[in-house]
Amino acid sequence: MIKYQYFSMLYLYNSLSRKKEIFKPVKDKRVRMYTCGPTVYAYAHLGNLRTYLAEDLLKRALIFNGYQVKQVMNITDVGHLVSDADSGEDKIELAAKKEKKTSFEIADFYTEYFFSALKKLNIIFPEITAKATDHIKDYINYIKLLEEKGFTYFTSDGIYFDTSKLKDYGKLTGQSFKDLSKNLKAGARIEFSSEKKNITDFALWKFSPQNVKREMEWDSPWGKGFPGWHIECAVISLKYLGNCFQNGKFYPEKFETIDIHCGGIDHIPIHHTNEIAEVESLTKKPMARFWFHVNFLVLKETRMGKSEGNALLIEDIEKNTFSPLAFRYLSLTTHYRMPLEFSFESLKGAENSLREIYNFIENCLWEKKFLKNKQNKAFSLKKYSKDFEEAINNDLNTPQALSVLWNLISRYNKVKKDQKKISQLSPSAVYQLLLSFDKVLGLDFKKIKLPKIKKEVQSMVKERENLRKQKKWQAADNYREKIKEKGYLVEDTIFGPRVTKINE
Ligand code: AMP
Ligand code: ZN
Repeated sequence: MIKYQYFSMLYLYNSLSRKKEIFKPVKDKRVRMYTCGPTVYAYAHLGNLRTYLAEDLLKRALIFNGYQVKQVMNITDVGHLVSDADSGEDKIELAAKKEKKTSFEIADFYTEYFFSALKKLNIIFPEITAKATDHIKDYINYIKLLEEKGFTYFTSDGIYFDTSKLKDYGKLTGQSFKDLSKNLKAGARIEFSSEKKNITDFALWKFSPQNVKREMEWDSPWGKGFPGWHIECAVISLKYLGNCFQNGKFYPEKFETIDIHCGGIDHIPIHHTNEIAEVESLTKKPMARFWFHVNFLVLKETRMGKSEGNALLIEDIEKNTFSPLAFRYLSLTTHYRMPLEFSFESLKGAENSLREIYNFIENCLWEKKFLKNKQNKAFSLKKYSKDFEEAINNDLNTPQALSVLWNLISRYNKVKKDQKKISQLSPSAVYQLLLSFDKVLGLDFKKIKLPKIKKEVQSMVKERENLRKQKKWQAADNYREKIKEKGYLVEDTIFGPRVTKINE
């Protein structure tokens, strides 16, 4: 494998500072990365998956830069209520009622579905996935600590966090506590329970309604109930990444700021803002060094969503005979901080581009049998390597990185047409460089192999060559047709006949 020297440093946009900053891990070369996982009450749709693709891109870019990444993802299988104001039903329980299944069956089913979607999209699996329902004891212990420090209060429906106790509550939104409260009151989605001290306060622990047996409820020092959504991510990230959890207990004073916390942009005003409140109130340290947020996948400017009723799934892509990786390619064509408009036309464009790249790779594999240079002397590959890295390290500028890849392909193809220069090409070095790009792009270039040609077809190709040498063109053409009937195409190149499988 050829090694290129990489020059630039990784710059990432930090939602907290609202600027691009140089990324460096808090400690050593190890990156502790937290990703808010799915709420498993329905099929993960392409919008959700856009976010997980961008987070995977981030993880790959970190690895590309020589970091070791430990990624933790929660699975929200309880606590995410229909309304952001901590009211309404639990999304999973509601789905269970509709589908006449238990909540646990619903959660298991949609978790498995989610994992299979990650696999189809070539997303690197997180090092740790943590189900919210497996951590009830941890939430209770943590809420007790918040209670001891005076950050909580009781209402008739749960234990709430008093957001007025934090000087910088809401800092991720860039708004002051006063402005945030005002804006929330103005927003139609949030109803203000009279028992809440501040509109921004949120439930840490919700009580089960009296005389109602809930499927998902647990005993706690405050009464039977279930955890709030934000406490799940706060506690799970602290437990697995914060280096402050020992023998079943949290030691907030030992907490080490996590490197990166990720999610969709919709998480900024409520979910992440409240996670920060829960963690920073006790640790007195920043919860995360970087906050990474991904913009929406939209359909003609409306966000794709489960509640919006316009959710498309990977299966919808497959039904239309597109490959899931075409969706991955499509997601790379727009910067992760910009809205990405989905349409089947744009997906078709992505599929065509991806196939063209795959064909190019197959060409390289074939041509390296004839052009055995170790180094590409026709033009310098270093420039492409550097440009690609600089694009990625510029806050994951994938549209730019893809254009570097396409420039490389067209340069190679141009030189190939020049009889004098062709011998200076190194398909092998170009192939290796593309594989190194793919470490970040994740388009599975490695799976491209030369097709295995049946012996029978190989003999037919040889026979056709003999006929051509004897200038028996008609007979040679007849062979070409026979070969086609067997499912292969023959193309005459300067290196001799090239055989490819039809419809690959
Ligand atoms: P949920 O399953 O609703 O908790 O969402 C899982 C992830 O998908 C979260 O990080 C959301 O911010 C993200 N998300 C939801 N809808 C979209 C969308 N249309 N485009 C991009 N990301 C989304
Ligand atoms: Zn979360």
